[in-house]
Amino acid sequence: MNDVLQLTKNLIERRSITPDDAGCLPLISERLEKSGFRCESLRYGEVDNLWATHGEGSPVLVLLGHTDVVPPGPREAWSSDPFVPEIRDGVLYGRGAADMKSGVAAFVIAAEQFVAAHPDHRGTLAILLTSDEEGVAIDGVRRVATTLRERGQRIDWCITGEPSSKSTLGDLVRVGRRGTLSAKLHVRGIQGHVAYPEKARNPIHQALPALSELAARRWDDGYETFPPTSFQITDTHAGNGANNVIPGQLDVLFNLRFNPNWSAERLEQACETVLKSHGLDYAIEWQRGGEPFYTPEGELRRVVREVLMEVSGSAPEESTGGGTSDARFIAPLGAHCVEIGPVNASIHKVDEHVRVDDLERLPGLYGAVIGRLLA
Ligand SMILES: [Zn+2]
Repeated sequence: MNDVLQLTKNLIERRSITPDDAGCLPLISERLEKSGFRCESLRYGEVDNLWATHGEGSPVLVLLGHTDVVPPGPREAWSSDPFVPEIRDGVLYGRGAADMKSGVAAFVIAAEQFVAAHPDHRGTLAILLTSDEEGVAIDGVRRVATTLRERGQRIDWCITGEPSSKSTLGDLVRVGRRGTLSAKLHVRGIQGHVAYPEKARNPIHQALPALSELAARRWDDGYETFPPTSFQITDTHAGNGANNVIPGQLDVLFNLRFNPNWSAERLEQACETVLKSHGLDYAIEWQRGGEPFYTPEGELRRVVREVLMEVSGSAPEESTGGGTSDARFIAPLGAHCVEIGPVNASIHKVDEHVRVDDLERLPGLYGAVIGRLLA
């Protein structure tokens, strides 16, 4: 059996439900050490991370991934055990088959083959893996990035092996991601009887004009291929169900998905300026999920485009859509970041899968990019 299929299966067998690594990282670092990589395990709290490097100095290429998976849900919903890899009709099934144990296995195989063929390659080839991408993601790449920054580690390029392809391998490469910012807003009023509104202050009435101004605002016109920044109210609550009581407080949840025209800090200020201009008595808790990042045209995008054209026969879509990924923590170190990986149709679902054909082509795809950048 070929290497990448075997390694993917070995990883799927390990029940690494976030943030438990379940022995995936030791398996990988043992292999990489045999290939001459220096492997450093960085454990923060409950979370295991691996920083493995081969070579010295610049340029530095990082292969970024995660070994944790989302919970599989009820066993009965799956056609076969999510932690017993099974091939049916040329498709490999199991939790993590697409997101992203296949990508991780392909990174390892590609790296092993590259350093065997080019023991004295230029610069540094690094592999950074975490067991906390699908969970709270605090002690994973976010923490490792802080450590790397303190060490003065520079990173030129970063490839994330997240499943990014739409219908065929290599039809899409992500070249940026939007930022995300959430808030819990509490607007204080004065509770009272609806028959005596002059003795109360209705927080819903107070807040509505401010909320409609925020919801109607055109934050920007987009950025490069990013859509315009969006503001969405996701929950509101006030009152106790009685129709004769003016509530004392209104609680609102909202989220912004934003492009590089904004930083989280500037968005917070812009929102609070609106809240204050309406004279609200409020408290707000902000939760910064990640800043946006964008990789402009340059060597990494050019090399990836050339390789994907060879693999799939046509130019890939270069997209900034989707949610967010751990690349958001590496981009602020000055790295150009892209995401390329298998088809993402089944991720986080039951019967998660990857086509064996695609899996077998992945190490070659990553290897071709590594070779053009570091050989
Ligand atoms: Zn993932």
